[in-house]
Amino acid sequence: RAKSDGRGVYRYFADDLTLAARERLQLENRLRRALVDEQLQLHFQPQIDIASGRVIGAEALLRWPDPVEGMIPPARFIPVAESTGLIDQLGAWVLRHACEQGQRWIEQGLPPLSMAVNVSPRQFHHIDLAHQVQQVLADTGFPAERLELELTEGALMEREAESLRMLERLRDMGVRVAIDDFGTGYSSFSYLKRFPLDVLKIDRSFITDIPRDIDDMEIAAAIIAMGHNLGVRVLAEGVETAEQLAFLGLKRCDSYQGFLLSPALPADEFAALLRDQPATLPCPQP
Ligand code: C2E
Ligand code: MG
Ligand code: MG
Ligand code: MG
Repeated sequence: RAKSDGRGVYRYFADDLTLAARERLQLENRLRRALVDEQLQLHFQPQIDIASGRVIGAEALLRWPDPVEGMIPPARFIPVAESTGLIDQLGAWVLRHACEQGQRWIEQGLPPLSMAVNVSPRQFHHIDLAHQVQQVLADTGFPAERLELELTEGALMEREAESLRMLERLRDMGVRVAIDDFGTGYSSFSYLKRFPLDVLKIDRSFITDIPRDIDDMEIAAAIIAMGHNLGVRVLAEGVETAEQLAFLGLKRCDSYQGFLLSPALPADEFAALLRDQPATLPCPQP
């Protein structure tokens, strides 16, 4: 079959690959330029303490506004940056700008917030992350205890012994560590008791179909209970409805992020949301 209509099919296929490769290269070059030209932005999604209803943290999320394409989503360019190594510079930029912003908010008198920063697997293993963090904290003045690094299960399991040493160095500095997208990456829980962790972030895929999907409710409840038994806090990602929040509250989940309160916002809008907080959010009476 390949022989009879082979040539046409093959040529079509080859052109297709070339196009994909070319697009990737183009994307990488544009991303590199955007980084150098300071066109990338960080937006901040609030993290809410469920018991008090108060915003207690922010997750820094990369935004790449493109004049032609509009906002290019991180899901499209992070993997490219990861595979080409550009993530080293990108990650360093994110860490520095997130800590700068966190420190600015402290100086502006905003209530105490933690700042969560996503760390890619390559960033975790390829560079001396603890050293980089130390330097950024020293340069920006941002307190180590307020910084929370988000890692995936995959990144931690890649080189276990090395990961453990890195986590211990970060812990010694006072920096907190969260497992992002928890439940999607690795099938063994044994690493949970070996690694010094502070937060489990339940992946959005287990939250989205609550309360329709009973299995997801069971899984979310089990993650919360397990996290608490291990002495770590549990955050639910992607909370969009009041029903989901009520369920999580019932199960004593510690905190959440999601469109129910807010998507990621530019820094000034995030600060405005926090200033309005006493008026807009239910909070316990003193
Ligand atoms: P993530 O770290 O798990 O971040 C959560 C993602 O879920 C964000 O997507 C956020 O906008 C989205 N989200 C939050 N609440 C809701 C909700 O209620 N409903 C829905 N449908 N989505 C919600 P975003 O910003 O597009 O980022 C996607 C992923 O890209 C992130 O997933 C993270 O893995 C990666 N990423 C983003 N910024 C960075 C960065 O600075 N460094 C690295 N290494 N990765 C990043
Ligand atoms: Mg994250
Ligand atoms: Mg996540
Ligand atoms: Mg993710």
